[in-house]
Amino acid sequence: MKAKVIIIGGGLSGVLAAMQLAQFPGGPDVLLIEKNPELLGRGVAYQYDFTHQPLNVVAGGMSLFADRPLDFVEWLEANHFKYNHLIEKVSPQEFIPRKIFGDYVLENLERVQHEAADRLQIRIDEAVSIMDFGTRKTVVLASGNELHADHVILALGNFPPADLFLPDNPVQNDPRYYASPWSDKVYSHITGDEHILLVGSGLTAVDIVLGLILRKFSGKVTMLSRRGRFPLPHDLSHPALQILEPEIKHPRKMLLWVRELIRKNPDIPWPSIMDGLRPFTKKIWLAWTLDEKSYFLRKIRPYWEIARHRIPAKSSALLNEMMNAGKLELKKGYIVEAIATDSGIEIVYRSERNDIRQVFHKVINCTGPESNYRKVRFPIIGDLIGQGKVKTDELGLGIKCTPEGRIINQRGEIEEGIWCIGPMRKSVLWETTALRELREQASELALLIAGK
Ligand SMILES: Cc1cc2nc3c(=O)[nH]c(=O)nc-3n(C[C@H](O)[C@H](O)[C@H](O)COP(=O)(O)OP(=O)(O)OC[C@H]3O[C@@H](n4cnc5c(N)ncnc54)[C@H](O)[C@@H]3O)c2cc1C
Repeated sequence: MKAKVIIIGGGLSGVLAAMQLAQFPGGPDVLLIEKNPELLGRGVAYQYDFTHQPLNVVAGGMSLFADRPLDFVEWLEANHFKYNHLIEKVSPQEFIPRKIFGDYVLENLERVQHEAADRLQIRIDEAVSIMDFGTRKTVVLASGNELHADHVILALGNFPPADLFLPDNPVQNDPRYYASPWSDKVYSHITGDEHILLVGSGLTAVDIVLGLILRKFSGKVTMLSRRGRFPLPHDLSHPALQILEPEIKHPRKMLLWVRELIRKNPDIPWPSIMDGLRPFTKKIWLAWTLDEKSYFLRKIRPYWEIARHRIPAKSSALLNEMMNAGKLELKKGYIVEAIATDSGIEIVYRSERNDIRQVFHKVINCTGPESNYRKVRFPIIGDLIGQGKVKTDELGLGIKCTPEGRIINQRGEIEEGIWCIGPMRKSVLWETTALRELREQASELALLIAGK
């Protein structure tokens, strides 16, 4: 009998895994399950509504196929006529709107499904449980159906941000507070002259500001984050510094190493120097102890995030323009109190040891995807933790798994037949969200599962 693989999650990771498996000669039957039809092939990052939020990687770096690096650029050239209103020109150096990349992913999924119709199926439903069924697995769906498979791949991706307020705080359920920023609904109730608080100042907060600019927003935006820093802009004139594999035994050494290279290369911006580390990140992270990883998260992560996850220079210029016009301010601090009032949500935030009280018309949680699985309220996560099939990691980064995506259960053993891909591997790989990483994971996973 032919093996069967069920992939749970139809975002970029799930689609890449499905395409790789379906194209594998003599490979298994594949069923891709996505709970939200609007997110099929797009996930949260490449949604239909993101018409003006750009990719944070240039088009030349966004091919779905490692052996055809310019595939996305060629696809754009062939389809440019559809997007004349969104992109001026096509070149490998352009930052393309994320919706268009989503169209490209979806079109490729449809093509592979057409070519391998007998092998790849797609189903819209939510997987809520995975149970043992002899040596196989049973996936239970929210619709009540049960499906059997030899392998299940979890591609659950990015979870909504952690709650900002305690459950008993009325603000948590106030319609003027948006607990998740990844929806067009965020904009539908914002009127032009309001004062909006974005909690967080990373890529998601920048996305929201770009969405507001597009909608001719004339009010004011305050961004509040612990570090009070924007992601840095890409500088395409400085590619990653080419380096030999460094020996970085402790994160403190990483700082010394970067400082030394900055001193030796005064003409190269420090983010390009950090880019040079990218090919070695996985190995460095795997070699560190728990204490060392914890040190990195406490002391170095903020600098890492702004340098590694950058924004197009054009987005950065738009932020500066808004700041210069007095319509955007960036505050360093954190919320200490939130009260729902008639005129808005009253926030007290602590900044530079002062408590500042301000009323905002809307508050949007842009703190980034929650990776602490104990706090995630998805039925399947509760089920897998409850059954002991999945173990959360000590640093709140994700779940225990091997670098190649085998799940480690609460007995510390490999949970046979269950795999994961994408952001779910963060605890073991650290950098595991960019297309390049997901592409590599999907092809390795297909080889491990179908290549036997
Ligand atoms: C806003 C944003 C912008 C980004 N921009 C870029 C970029 O420009 N370039 C880049 O390289 N990377 C970017 N990334 C990184 C991004 O995380 C990855 O590129 C990728 O989208 C991750 O895909 P995923 O499939 O793992 O997760 P997701 O996109 O989160 O998809 C997971 C899917 O699983 C579904 N799902 C979850 N649970 C279930 C269930 N129980 N049953 C059925 N379905 C389920 C969800 O509905 C969702 O569709 C961005 C990320 C974000 C959040």
